Amino acid sequence: MLLFTPGPTPVPQAVRDAMGKSTIHHRTPEFEAIFKEARERLLKLFDMPECVMLASSGTGAMESAVLNLCKSKALTINSGKFGERFGKIADAFKIPKVELKYEWNTPASLDDIKDVLSNNSDIDAIFIQVSESAGGLRHPVEEIASYIKSINSDIMVVADGITAVGVERIDTTNIDALIAGSQKALMLPPGLAMIGLSNKAVDKIDSGVGYYLNLSSEIKKQRTNTTAYTAPTTLIIGLNAMFDEIEVDGFDALYDNTIKRANATNRALKEIGFKIYPTTPALSMSTVIDENAEPIRKLLKTKYSVNIAGGQDHLKGKIFRINQMGLIPVYESIWVVNAIELALSDLGIRDYDGSASRVFNEIYYGNR
Ligand SMILES: *Cc1c(COP(=O)(O)O)cnc(C)c1O
Repeated sequence: MLLFTPGPTPVPQAVRDAMGKSTIHHRTPEFEAIFKEARERLLKLFDMPECVMLASSGTGAMESAVLNLCKSKALTINSGKFGERFGKIADAFKIPKVELKYEWNTPASLDDIKDVLSNNSDIDAIFIQVSESAGGLRHPVEEIASYIKSINSDIMVVADGITAVGVERIDTTNIDALIAGSQKALMLPPGLAMIGLSNKAVDKIDSGVGYYLNLSSEIKKQRTNTTAYTAPTTLIIGLNAMFDEIEVDGFDALYDNTIKRANATNRALKEIGFKIYPTTPALSMSTVIDENAEPIRKLLKTKYSVNIAGGQDHLKGKIFRINQMGLIPVYESIWVVNAIELALSDLGIRDYDGSASRVFNEIYYGNR
C-alpha cells in the first residue's frame, strides 16, 4: 500500500535502518555528539540562531510556544483544525485571545490582522500556520510577519511549519518561532517536535513558563548538547539519517522536486475534472473538493493500493488530500493520479483515457 496521507509520511529504509541499532544511553558523550550534529543541522535548516527539540508530537511544541511566548494576549488565525488548536491551547491556559476565523480554503487577510492589532494594543504574539493541513492551504506568513515587525518588533510571530519545514525554503527574517514535527515533511516516525527561535524569542522566554514544556530549561540544556529530560534518542538518530538522505541531492533539489510534483499533480487532477479546494494551495499536499471524495478514496484503498486522506469536521466526505511532503519517488505520484482516473471510470463518471498520467508527465518532464 502506498502511504500518501499528508502525515504520517513513509519513513525511508535508510532511516529505519539507522533507528534499528541497539539503544544507547542519553547521558553519554556518544549521544551528545549525535545530538550536537542534529542540532547544528536543524539550526541551518531553520536558518535561526536557536532551536530546541522536544519529545512530543507537534502539538507539544505548539503548546510550549503559546505558554512561553505570549504574556498578555494572543492573536490566533483559524482557517482549519490546526489554527483552531492554537486558540484552544490559549483557552486551556486562560490566555486572552482574539481569533480570526476563515473558511478552510481561505488564507488570513493582512487587512483583518491590521484591524485587530490596531484595536488590541495588548496583543503580544500571533500564531499562524505556514501550511494549514486541514484544507491544504498556504497562509501569506512572510507578508504578515513583515507587517507585524514593521509596526512593533516586540510582537512574537509564531509560525507552525509542521507541513512546511522541509517542503519549501521559509524566510525566517521576521519569524520568532518556527515549529516542525517529525512525522510530516521530515519523514520520521511521530514523537519529535522541533522549534527554531529568534534571539528576541529567547529573550522573551527568559526563565520560561511551565515545567515539561518550559523552553528556558530546554534551551539551557540543549546548548550543551543534552536535554532536560530523557531525550528521544532513536528519533534524533533518525533525524541525522534523514538529513543524510536529503543531503544526497540537497534541500534545494528536494524543494524543486516538490514544486514540480505538486504542480504536476494539481494540473493532472484539473485535467480530469477536479477542483482544487484552497484558493492559495500549499505545496505540502494536493487538496480536491468533490462530492465523490469518499468513494474515490475507498476505491484507491481497496483496488489500487493507495492510501490518501479525506477531510475532517464539516469537510468530512467532501475533500481528499494527497501528500507531497518528503522524498517521494515520482513514479509513485504518477500512479496516484492514474489510480484516481481509474476510480472515476469505475464510478461511471468519466471514461479512462490516461489523461491524468499524460498531463502529469508533460508538466513534470516538460522543458527538459
Ligand atoms: C500534524 C500537524 C500538527 C501537529 O499535530 P500532532 O498530531 O500533534 O503532531 C500541527 N500543525 C499542523 C499544520 C499539522 O499538520
